[in-house]
Amino acid sequence: ADALDENAAKKIYEAKGRPSDNPLIVHIDRMERLERIVKEVPRTALKLAEAFWPGPLTMIFEKTDAVPLGTTGGLETVAVRMPDHPVALKLICQAGGYIAAPSANRSGRPSPTTALHVAEDMDGIIDMILDGGNVDIGVESTIVDLTGDVPMILRPGKITLEDIKRVAGTAKMDPGLLSKPDENVKPKAPGMKYRHYAPKAEMDIIKGAQQSVLEYINNKTRELWKQGKRVGVVASAENEKNYCADIVKCVGSKQDIRAVAHNLYRVLREFDKEEVDYIFSECFEEGQESMAVMNRLTKAAGYRIIEL
Ligand code: AMP
Ligand code: MG
Repeated sequence: ADALDENAAKKIYEAKGRPSDNPLIVHIDRMERLERIVKEVPRTALKLAEAFWPGPLTMIFEKTDAVPLGTTGGLETVAVRMPDHPVALKLICQAGGYIAAPSANRSGRPSPTTALHVAEDMDGIIDMILDGGNVDIGVESTIVDLTGDVPMILRPGKITLEDIKRVAGTAKMDPGLLSKPDENVKPKAPGMKYRHYAPKAEMDIIKGAQQSVLEYINNKTRELWKQGKRVGVVASAENEKNYCADIVKCVGSKQDIRAVAHNLYRVLREFDKEEVDYIFSECFEEGQESMAVMNRLTKAAGYRIIEL
């Protein structure tokens, strides 16, 4: 939608079934667009833009009056990104330079990573799908807030805390992202936190040594079978062959976190179609981008992490 037109933004919320206080990201095609929508561009933002735009980095600024509150979910700040895809850049340019663009899924579903995923959620709800090919990265942009003294990462992504620090000199993770919902890491009661990116099945993340994780998941699978349930596993390439569950889907090697990020939402969506009742997932904590993967996975599981 035209990010500067309140009524256009409204249609996004309708199509997605998205709560109206969840702000949209404004996408631009070149730096000169910033001036109209942002009160002040800090020097750090210029450096970050130089380093990471076009690319998967969203920056938060104080907004000007040109940006309606209907786009920002009522906030006086605006999130801005310059995507790195020739079709997206051209579309933004042709549309006047400012497109409010969320992921094209129904709110609460895993983000789409192919045009087919978009059709699954949005067929009959939107007028057109412009297919630019499968996504490259697979998880949403890193969001960094530049309205405070220190750049603050609000959502982890491919661009890591270390990347931001390297360019900005200093940066922090939002404390809310780091603190686990339950310090004892016992399984959390379902529904205690808002469940984003959610598959239809119940989902637990199992954390521990490789052999213990395998044994736990296989034992639980047998228990669930006795109750007539179907079980799925989100597995690493290393362990894929060793599970007995009904359906085992590999997201990639534990050593290749980029592959895991790339495959994660597709696998979660596939599980919805397989009609499993329960999903167990391994943990993926190797490599700098694992923060982004674990953030999405944890939300998908409604914060249910079982530490062995
Ligand atoms: P997406 O889910 O990729 O559409 O990105 C939207 C997300 O960006 C929101 O759910 C917020 O987490 C974040 N966001 C957008 N605008 C702002 C803002 N002005 N302040 C803080 N976070 C924002
Ligand atoms: Mg989204």
